[in-house]
Amino acid sequence: MSADARLEALRWRHEYSGKVRDLYLSDAEPGRALVVASDRVSAFDHVLDPGIPGKGALLTTLSLWWFGQLDVPNHLVEQTAGGLAALSSPLPPDVAERAMLVKRLDMFPIEAVVRGYLVGSGWAEYQESQSVCGIPLPAGLANGDRLPEPIYTPAYKAPMGEHDENITFERTVDLVGEADATAIRALSLAVFASASAIAEARGVILADTKFEFGRDPQTGEITLADEVLTSDSSRYWDAELYAAGGEHRLDSFDKQIVRDWLASHWDKTGTPPPLPPEIVERTAARYRELIERLTR
Ligand code: ATP
Ligand code: MG
Repeated sequence: MSADARLEALRWRHEYSGKVRDLYLSDAEPGRALVVASDRVSAFDHVLDPGIPGKGALLTTLSLWWFGQLDVPNHLVEQTAGGLAALSSPLPPDVAERAMLVKRLDMFPIEAVVRGYLVGSGWAEYQESQSVCGIPLPAGLANGDRLPEPIYTPAYKAPMGEHDENITFERTVDLVGEADATAIRALSLAVFASASAIAEARGVILADTKFEFGRDPQTGEITLADEVLTSDSSRYWDAELYAAGGEHRLDSFDKQIVRDWLASHWDKTGTPPPLPPEIVERTAARYRELIERLTR
């Protein structure tokens, strides 16, 4: 039986599917939601085939570990075991290892991106304008350089199927109001600073990441939601490789293997080709390695 059918038997109804996570609601659990990470992997805005076996469980483990490290309100119903102990009927183990029981928040339509390094779309923008998302930067920076200090470069969270769009801080004020926009920026920068210090102590560089926040309808508190600091939402580098400065210094712990393979086997039109088993296994190994490095 599919996970969906088994959850339905436990009175969880499927509410929404993002590219990677599925959200379920239950009348027996008002005000709560079950967020289940799948093994789906996406790159260049496409969900790829096949998925990466074990990825949903690995990324859930990593998210939960990070929630435990961070000093900021988060959406878990209970801070241990993904909040699942609060359920009256336990989930099947192969779903439980990918699931979090969370407070259902009123989500802000903002992707709270923080960048500590100049890379990817930030590097592209810098070359054109010497700024990223309207934030002016010093001249003479190179691809992959550390920024003088981390910067907050929000994006508008586009409805399903549309591209997220980089926006200025002022635009986030229009979207959610001055007080919340300012609080979200401050929280994002604070969480990024403490997470980068934790990662760096383990030989891993947190180059950039994306947070999502919502408001707890009970307390009004701005609360960290969704996944946090997983390799899907973050770019991690090996600090030793970075310092060595070779051609692999900016190889990320995330989907670099998948992206590189796709870039040389697909012209980005139509449906992406299926990933070969070797690429799937190397990607899975990379996810496992990141977790071992961070959480050991
Ligand atoms: P993307 O693939 O670009 O991340 P997405 O964010 O729509 O797209 P997922 O992250 O896979 O897709 O789906 C998770 C969804 O659940 C998101 O829409 C997210 O905003 C929402 N969500 C996460 N935590 C909560 C919460 N505590 N309360 C309500 N909604 C939440
Ligand atoms: Mg998301």
